Amino acid sequence: SNIPNIKLNDGNLIPQLGFGVFKVDADDAERVVSEALEAGYRHFDTAKIYGNEEGVGRAIASSGIAREELFITTKLWNDEQKNAKEALQASLERLGLDYVDLYLIHWPCEKQGAYTSAWEELGRQREAGLVKSVGVCNFLPKHLDNLLSPGGEPLVPAVNQIELHPTYQQREVTEYCRSRGIEIEAWGPLGQGKYDLFNEEPIAQAAKAHGKTPAQVVLRWHIQEGNIVFPKTTHKERMAENLDIFDFELTDEEFLKIHALERGNRVAAHPDEID
Ligand code: NAD
Repeated sequence: SNIPNIKLNDGNLIPQLGFGVFKVDADDAERVVSEALEAGYRHFDTAKIYGNEEGVGRAIASSGIAREELFITTKLWNDEQKNAKEALQASLERLGLDYVDLYLIHWPCEKQGAYTSAWEELGRQREAGLVKSVGVCNFLPKHLDNLLSPGGEPLVPAVNQIELHPTYQQREVTEYCRSRGIEIEAWGPLGQGKYDLFNEEPIAQAAKAHGKTPAQVVLRWHIQEGNIVFPKTTHKERMAENLDIFDFELTDEEFLKIHALERGNRVAAHPDEID
């Protein structure tokens, strides 16, 4: 396929474009993921809390696609930070897999005070081969500092998965991460459909200029920013549309105009609000 890979700080490769399944119903997940596999997606982002790991697993099993061609991410939910080993094992069973490619702490949940010990457990599970790469979601620099500060050689997260779209770019977090070799995964890359992203002037204009849809322009912008993305849709046509972004390039001017849309427009929860 024409989807570029990004090399993570542990040497593993991740397809820069994948498919997210947040809010895909448990009883629709097998159909949705099967159609996404057929469309050409090989990287899937799920989580224990999405409640659809079984459906994702069934789609993988029935696809006949070799395991090593797939990149599967799941996440440790907040109430299991003290039982990360068991939580990972249970996710693997629901997915029907021997390992996942990426396992992420879903939220820091600072008040619990458990994320650093959970992180150590993820490191042990990586040593044991149950997960190839480990990372975090929704971590701010203050949380990452706590993972990176212990003596010796700290285990640096491979990725930090954060809310990121043109009007909310979290530049302090991305600069912190990139300067330490932590890749950025942008969740809600299309703003979760919660504001009128597609009518923003520079996005609409670039779409017109390239004969692409505004969604394709936004995804292309993420790719050119260097973000890893996995837009979610349950519609076959949109699965194909969201994949079809590697035959054009935003000009520097178009790219910078979209980059300039930043206005702190967070559409989902802030890490300090999630216990
Ligand atoms: P998204 O930005 O991908 O938006 C999804 C919505 O965009 C769809 O429901 C649909 O309405 C619309 N859409 C998709 N393709 C479109 C197209 N071609 N044209 C027009 N509209 C289109 O939001 P998301 O699903 O929240 O984020 C992507 C993935 O990120 C999730 O599925 C999940 O895997 C992950 N995620 C992680 C966290 C976290 O805390 N780690 C939080 C939210 C999401």
